[in-house]
Amino acid sequence: MTRPLQQRAILGGTFDPVHVGHLRVALQLRDAGFDRVILMPNHIPPHRPAPIANTPQRLQMLELAAAGLDGIEVSDLEVSRPESSYSVVTLETLRSQHPEAAFCWVVGTDAWLGFDRWHRADDILELANLLVINRPGEHPRQPAWQQQQLEQRACDLATLLQSPAGRICQLDWPGLDISATALRQAIRQGDNIQFLTPEPVLDYIQHQQLYR
Ligand code: ATP
Repeated sequence: MTRPLQQRAILGGTFDPVHVGHLRVALQLRDAGFDRVILMPNHIPPHRPAPIANTPQRLQMLELAAAGLDGIEVSDLEVSRPESSYSVVTLETLRSQHPEAAFCWVVGTDAWLGFDRWHRADDILELANLLVINRPGEHPRQPAWQQQQLEQRACDLATLLQSPAGRICQLDWPGLDISATALRQAIRQGDNIQFLTPEPVLDYIQHQQLYR
């Protein structure tokens, strides 16, 4: 019998800062059957304005948030590269480092809707599976490229977990209606952000005087 694939989920993002919405997704992924969940902060996001916290700060906040969470780890693969954080390059590196594993890139609906503009989007789907998580209240119409990919590749989670690459699963997980943007805005306004991110991250933000 062939050995089952080691399935690793990658939640990439800016994490400026990490919040409980990210952490709930990571826990749900782990509990849904992924052997490991990798939180992958990017260095220079190709698709959006530069983050406010610097790279070591974002990495540090993630490490504080993930400390003690079984099966959830933080990777510095993208932040340790000097150039733009292209997911396709990250996946090529991970695949060559871990030939025994299958990878699943996880995106929220917002990212999925612009996925056709990602660098070498088709190659990403050759290297990995894709999990699209609908954020609360989001059921938008799929653009043509996305619709075509779903027609060819859509499957349920159980099938994706048996597949080495090339499948797309859309999930409606009960998410938390929170974003890093809302968190930054709350801090700027002096609102209380307790329970929106773990206590050690909160302490770090205060200590570093971030987002004021
Ligand atoms: P910002 O508000 O700065 O855009 P964000 O909160 O969306 O940040 P990112 O770092 O961009 O956080 O997110 C990383 C990944 O986590 C993305 O795929 C994003 O869609 C997803 N994500 C962020 N917040 C949530 C949430 N509350 N529920 C589910 N997924 C989320």
